[in-house]
Amino acid sequence: MAPAQQDAAFGIQPQRSSEPPVQEQKTQVIIIGGGLSGLQAAHDLQAAGISCLILEARDRVGGKLWSVPLGSEKGYVELGGAWTNDVNQPMVTALVKKFGLEMVTQNIIGDCVLEDHGRFLYGSDPPLSQEDKAIFAEIRSRVEALCHAVKATELGQSLTKHGEMNMDDFAVSMGASNIVRRLVNIWTAAMLGVESNQVSAVFFMHYCQTGGGLIQMRSDGKGGGQSMRFRHGTQSLCYGLRNGLKPETVICSTPVQTIQQDISSGCLVIARDGRRFRSDRIISTIPSVFLSQINILPPLSADKCWLSTHSKLGFYAKVFLVYSEPWWRKLGLCGLAQGLSGPVALTRDASINEDGLFALICFVVGQKGAEWAQKDAKERLIEVIAHVDRIYGKDIPLPLETREQIWSNEEFSQGAPCPVVPASCLRSLSQDQWRPEGYIHFAGTETSTVWKGYMEGALVSGSRAAGEIIDILSTCTDQAAQ
Ligand SMILES: Cc1cc2nc3c(=O)[nH]c(=O)nc-3n(C[C@H](O)[C@H](O)[C@H](O)COP(=O)(O)OP(=O)(O)OC[C@H]3O[C@@H](n4cnc5c(N)ncnc54)[C@H](O)[C@@H]3O)c2cc1C
Repeated sequence: MAPAQQDAAFGIQPQRSSEPPVQEQKTQVIIIGGGLSGLQAAHDLQAAGISCLILEARDRVGGKLWSVPLGSEKGYVELGGAWTNDVNQPMVTALVKKFGLEMVTQNIIGDCVLEDHGRFLYGSDPPLSQEDKAIFAEIRSRVEALCHAVKATELGQSLTKHGEMNMDDFAVSMGASNIVRRLVNIWTAAMLGVESNQVSAVFFMHYCQTGGGLIQMRSDGKGGGQSMRFRHGTQSLCYGLRNGLKPETVICSTPVQTIQQDISSGCLVIARDGRRFRSDRIISTIPSVFLSQINILPPLSADKCWLSTHSKLGFYAKVFLVYSEPWWRKLGLCGLAQGLSGPVALTRDASINEDGLFALICFVVGQKGAEWAQKDAKERLIEVIAHVDRIYGKDIPLPLETREQIWSNEEFSQGAPCPVVPASCLRSLSQDQWRPEGYIHFAGTETSTVWKGYMEGALVSGSRAAGEIIDILSTCTDQAAQ
């Protein structure tokens, strides 16, 4: 198809304006969002000789990665993404090597705790009745098997096969008791920030599939989703990528408000403060739920609009509790604990021994988290500390320092880690939901088919979107040379 015909097929019409010309900054590609995916896309484009600018809404790069130094100067608190592994996350691993980043292994030595039920060895089943243990194990293996059976490209068909149940229905259909349902709820709340009755079973299985299955995604052991942390913070990945870009590639504090596509002059991007940028192509890396909040002309296809208006970001907050010593290790515990009665769904050891930083990270997620977030800051902290006390079942020392981050309150995230797509939307997504539309390409961790919702997924998606443009622009250059 000739370019003009292609444009007409995209529904892009020439725009005519009688207004006087306004100063516009020009580049070949504009990337919206300076998170990991946007930075990776910029890296790949520039390596291919294609000019680009990143327009980032916040005053920093990193998006959902945000590593802040502790007041005690004893290391970094990971307010956003924290864990990776060096077995099946090759893009993160390559950057870790390239930038010479120091990694620490997640502590799994010692017992875990399930509130009101007691302790159990890491990797074994929680201390439930024999019957509950058997049903929990069966649900886990069934989810694991289905994760590998769901067809990522045909989720609509998977619905026909596996039904439109949510994860809670799924657990109940397998005979789950109350306590087993609550454990299944911890999976969905901790992984997506939503309750088990708010997420389609097929979507959850597809999500887990992208990370190699439920067990691998939830594991803190070698090759698992939570196996390693960055001694100096995950944001060092973003700084490494940004520092390798041409000067002034990243323009911070520039929320994009309008995108116009036009056959004769390509793309016009207008920031909230009226600054204007022109490019041949655009990569959007913003979470899909934001697409409907940007004025895009001509509008995106019906299925992207559906996704944007119907997908939901879960409630996600982290509370960091820093102690003078790792008291849980002295009790023979590894720091991994599951809460049932209060706002804390999970705790994990977030210490960096090398820096003398001893901390527990508390995941405050899902419905209970959303209710907790309504209280004032002092009350929130008191509740978290009291709940951690209850989970561990004894008077634990008071933290020396605390830090809280509520992602749902962030204007440019509004939740985390990845939007949840309802079953009704999955059915209508028979075609590739992330195909480019006109001159706009789509990246961001949720668009990835591997480690969706994770740093690896963000990097893979950034490279994929950049690759789409490199292919198109190099074909145009080849044709022009003939
Ligand atoms: C609490 C938490 C824990 C997590 N834990 C892990 C973990 O342990 N391991 C792991 O691998 N991953 C984890 N993640 C997920 C990981 O952080 C993300 O997958 C990854 O950082 C996403 O990168 P991204 O580029 O796709 O999106 P983002 O980081 O969301 O980047 C999008 C960017 O777009 C910007 N933006 C938004 N709107 C506009 C606009 N209108 N104009 C311009 N810019 C805009 C945003 O400011 C942002 O910088 C976690 C995330 C959170 C929040």
